Amino acid sequence: MKYALVTGGARGIGRAIAVKLAKDGFFVILNYLSNDLEAEKTLAQIQEEGGQGQLLKFDVSDRHQVDTILGGWIEANKDKTIEVLINNAGIRKDTLMLWMEPKDWDSVLNISLGGFYNVTKQALNPMLVKKFGRIINIVSLSGLKGVPGQTNYSAAKAGVIGATKALAQEVGRRGITVNAVAPGFITTEMTADMNEKEIKALIPVNRFGKPEEVAELVSFLASENSSYITGEVISINGGLYS
Ligand code: NAP
Repeated sequence: MKYALVTGGARGIGRAIAVKLAKDGFFVILNYLSNDLEAEKTLAQIQEEGGQGQLLKFDVSDRHQVDTILGGWIEANKDKTIEVLINNAGIRKDTLMLWMEPKDWDSVLNISLGGFYNVTKQALNPMLVKKFGRIINIVSLSGLKGVPGQTNYSAAKAGVIGATKALAQEVGRRGITVNAVAPGFITTEMTADMNEKEIKALIPVNRFGKPEEVAELVSFLASENSSYITGEVISINGGLYS
């Protein structure tokens, strides 16, 4: 059995990725922050479709929790290697820089960028030993283009893009690829407050994307077939140019 860890896997894009990876044959370790009900629903969906998985609740931005809970899982399961890591957990706290409170800056940076560090630090060593791994970081068009009102979010995602490119060069020789997927507008709770009718006019395919469409791309990057792609940022945005 191959193991995959999806952070922020209870809802939205993370849920679709978790369900798809389970269909691909992975045992999925489903991380989330607090929404037990949605996490249980995702796990139930995986199991109804014949897949396997388990919940692993921790805050990716809390290094102590990651070290204890994820590190504890790794320690207790030395015969199993997490071969695929999807760093997906993320939040938005949009406001103009003028009004941005320190907590809005810190929380967004700590979850996306800090979470990348905390979780990858735990998962990387076993991949190095196994000489195989797939690390896929869910970033954003915002991290490529910069979006007004999202100085925190654009910075966090741009930081993860830099980390993706650097780490890819460190671990390529060990059979580990590191890539980023940069969605545009995808229909999830994160975009529920946005006016799709207005925004879709800017998108060449004239609609928001579906989490399942992002999951298809992630599934390919997680597979052995993607072995010559590393250090890349792959956009999935319906043609919305950055
Ligand atoms: P979402 O529907 O709001 O779901 C976010 C998930 O992340 C939830 O499962 C949540 O857990 C989890 N999470 C949040 N903070 C966490 C933490 N500190 N520790 C662990 N888990 C945490 O978001 P989404 O739209 O699916 O977004 C997923 C990723 O795609 C994010 O990185 C986002 O920035 C990126 N993205 C989204 C879009 C879009 O249009 N939706 C576009 C570009 C990039 P709980 O369920 O427990 O709250």
